[in-house]
Amino acid sequence: MNKDRKLIIAGNWKMNKTVGEALDLVNGLKRELANVKEIDLVVAPPFTALSEVSKAILDSNIRLGAQNMSEHNFGAYTGEICAAMLKEFSVRYVILGHSERRQFQQESSALIAKKALAAHAASLKPIVCIGELLEERKANQTERVLETQLRGSLAGLSTEQVEETIIAYEPVWAIGTGLTATAEQAQSAHAFIRQTLVGIVGEATAKRVRIQYGGSVKPNNVRELMSLPDVDGALVGGASLEVRSFSEIVKQSI
Ligand code: PEP
Repeated sequence: MNKDRKLIIAGNWKMNKTVGEALDLVNGLKRELANVKEIDLVVAPPFTALSEVSKAILDSNIRLGAQNMSEHNFGAYTGEICAAMLKEFSVRYVILGHSERRQFQQESSALIAKKALAAHAASLKPIVCIGELLEERKANQTERVLETQLRGSLAGLSTEQVEETIIAYEPVWAIGTGLTATAEQAQSAHAFIRQTLVGIVGEATAKRVRIQYGGSVKPNNVRELMSLPDVDGALVGGASLEVRSFSEIVKQSI
């Protein structure tokens, strides 16, 4: 697909896969996707599998992502992982503000902005997730919610840092539900996000920011979604857990 921005497709494995299972999955993806050059490919295993997956994808076209990180650098933060620790495993991307963390860990946009700053300081590229709840969409609040989350989650970032940030638009009602935004809903939300970015960093930078769609992306719906003018990739949950479905999603997007 011919777009100025290179597509980026990332698999968020969430709290799935033991180390052995993670290796099976990533080795299968390496085999299936070895020739893909047109798309940036990222897998985000749980922290416990980062070390082994990192070794397995050396010399491959697959890059490593983490699913979260602390806003702090080292210290007395029990249970947390900081950017420098992720860098030890050659992690390049970090998913921040996934709706599950916003919901279950009460992460706020202000916290996500601090994490994004810490990620950039360590040269990690954040994938910042935003998205509305079903009630908010029904109440015509989608754009208000997206603008608030976007501005809040990017607060304090420089223009250059925003350009190196990936935004993932994930309507919460479409995550893990089998419901997908229609092409019109997705394009309209992505165009709105890009327009909001114009207000934050100006038109030239906003045009360069990649905006992924996430929410029940599957091999049979990805092609249409990726063809939309403001959709620059996908953040995939459930369908990233199997070699066949994730590699088919990638192949359908070329
Ligand atoms: C996600 O969790 O980011 C996601 C999009 O999940 P799924 O693809 O399963 O809807």
